[in-house]
Amino acid sequence: MRRQTCELCDFKGDVDLVRRYRIIPEEVTEQAGITQYKTVRLCPNCWQELSSWYSANISGVTYDTAFKRFRDRSGPEMIKEYEVAYSRFREHKKSHLSI
Ligand SMILES: [Zn+2]
Repeated sequence: MRRQTCELCDFKGDVDLVRRYRIIPEEVTEQAGITQYKTVRLCPNCWQELSSWYSANISGVTYDTAFKRFRDRSGPEMIKEYEVAYSRFREHKKSHLSI
């Protein structure tokens, strides 16, 4: 079986173990009207860590300074939120690897 490499930790495993995942959940891209969004190859450990990272770092609300109150983030704002969280997670993993 073809072996795949995890994009975050360089773990190598079979194609059914190191799988393609959407870095932004489908319901979020759908809400923003996007049908195709890039996927990354991750091992189960990194996917698990990324899910926890998202839970800890992503908020569905934002403070609106103009109206001085919290409101739900729009679709495009949520995409941005996930993109930033993913790139921070990526940096976090890469810096951890090089130690
Ligand atoms: Zn990994």
